[in-house]
Amino acid sequence: MGADGGSINKSKNLIISSKDESSAVNDHHGKEFDALSRWTICRLSNKPLRLPIVSDYKGNLLNKEAVLEWLLTPEKEDYSGQQIEMFKHIKSLKDIVDLGNVVDGESSVLKCEVGDEVFGKSTTQFEYIASCGHVLPHKLLEQTSVDKRCPVCDGPYSEIDIVTINPCFEEEHNKLEQRARRLRNQGVAHNCKKISVGRKRKASSVDSSKKRPKK
Ligand SMILES: [Zn+2]
Repeated sequence: MGADGGSINKSKNLIISSKDESSAVNDHHGKEFDALSRWTICRLSNKPLRLPIVSDYKGNLLNKEAVLEWLLTPEKEDYSGQQIEMFKHIKSLKDIVDLGNVVDGESSVLKCEVGDEVFGKSTTQFEYIASCGHVLPHKLLEQTSVDKRCPVCDGPYSEIDIVTINPCFEEEHNKLEQRARRLRNQGVAHNCKKISVGRKRKASSVDSSKKRPKK
């Protein structure tokens, strides 16, 4: 099992200072993100994460502003090939979810309003409910897995609404990909809203009553 040449450069010395964002960011551009920077840097703009924050189906954290800019640049001329490859699935606002209860912690770190753990600085796995956008530590969400109601807004959710933020493991990635495929087959976007199709399918060949997803 030799190195395959694609070794990952981990930028261990990345220091995020909100005042000196441009230099830190440029230095970082194009490099593989390490575990901490995924929680502090928006990979679409290479700027520090700032509220409001959104997330795509892969569980990436992004500045909403950066996503709007992305959507307003159809030719993607300002983006690297890597970024285009990484975010080509974001084609509309339905492909992202606003994370509602993320707040600024001390010294420019982000945290969810529930619990004390800070993004990227604890071993806690964070997840969000795509139907309402609330972020929760995995262990807390697990406690609600029976009645399936969001502990923040009390809204009902289904298993398919759960998205792991910055997943580390292959199986978590696969689960998110599977979820995206399932939703697509049901005609539902990442944010749990229906995908509006320009061209309607002929109902004659499809048993639509069978396939209709729950709201
Ligand atoms: Zn909620």
